[in-house]
Amino acid sequence: EATITKIAAGEIIERPASVVKELIENSIDANSQNIIVEIKGGGKDYIRVTDDGTGIDENQVELAFIRHSTSKISSIDDLNNIHSLGFRGEALASISMVSKVETLTRARDSTKGIRVFIDNGKIVDKQVIGCPVGTSMILRELFYNVPVRRKFLKKETAESNYVSDIVYKLALGNPNISFKYIKDDRLILKTPGTNDIVSNIYSILGKEFIDNLLELNYKDDTLNIKGYVSKNSFYRGNRRHQYIFVNKRWVKNYEITKTIEDCYKSVIPINKFPIFIFFIDIDPSNIDVNIHPTKEEIKFVDQSKIDELINGLVIENINKVVT
Ligand code: ADP
Ligand code: MG
Repeated sequence: EATITKIAAGEIIERPASVVKELIENSIDANSQNIIVEIKGGGKDYIRVTDDGTGIDENQVELAFIRHSTSKISSIDDLNNIHSLGFRGEALASISMVSKVETLTRARDSTKGIRVFIDNGKIVDKQVIGCPVGTSMILRELFYNVPVRRKFLKKETAESNYVSDIVYKLALGNPNISFKYIKDDRLILKTPGTNDIVSNIYSILGKEFIDNLLELNYKDDTLNIKGYVSKNSFYRGNRRHQYIFVNKRWVKNYEITKTIEDCYKSVIPINKFPIFIFFIDIDPSNIDVNIHPTKEEIKFVDQSKIDELINGLVIENINKVVT
């Protein structure tokens, strides 16, 4: 009982991008090597996430859609030691309440696949089928049964931009996984999945950025910082291409953002935003962990150490960056 109270996190499905995030995170948790994301109509009409991960056991498929059922923790103690992205067992339950879901899945050690159709949170059809190992989650007509929420969604382009942002973040943070992103039948993105950070960045931010890439590095016993900035093509009109990953998770940290922007401003006072990608690996005891999983903001126990180090790395190289 206590487990459920402590992990209940309320509303998570706000828009197509929230669905895509939850589905991709499930695919990552399932140890997938390849993840294909497809959307149509900004994700309002159609979302499909296909992976080659562990799949779901035939007798677990129903369970996966029941609220607070998760295969990722088994006791309250596990909550203090979370390595998977999901752990509340809420996403699939919520998603299946607000859209028409079709799932195709085959577990690694199973010879047959299963297809289920879920509507209003209930399984309406279940068949044995042939399919490759892994899982494909297909959603149609998001919020068809919650017209107020459907009406609240933005225009197709705005919603698909939110989806793209999520795909870019998860793809950048997981260079060991190959992502394919298909929007309205057009291939938008394909990452190599070779665990090579630079070729991963190349596939997402393009040649111009990579041709003039600067790598910034810092390492001590508890901390490893890798930064990527570019000598050319490094300004944008918004902050969409500023990425901070802490222990592989995309996070917001305003202090770091400001530190980096201030370095640039000290050289060129320009009202635009530099592109940067920073990976910070840090001993988890040096982060203030907030267990609420939709909170993307993160606090470091020693924020000023991080700020000073990043300021040093960028300032040291700023003349190479700004030419
Ligand atoms: P959580 O991720 O918090 O456990 P979800 O509702 O997102 O909860 O998923 C419920 C369960 O369904 C997961 O714990 C997992 O066992 C299973 N599952 C969901 N998606 C996948 C997937 N793509 N591959 C394998 N198993 C999955
Ligand atoms: Mg999940």
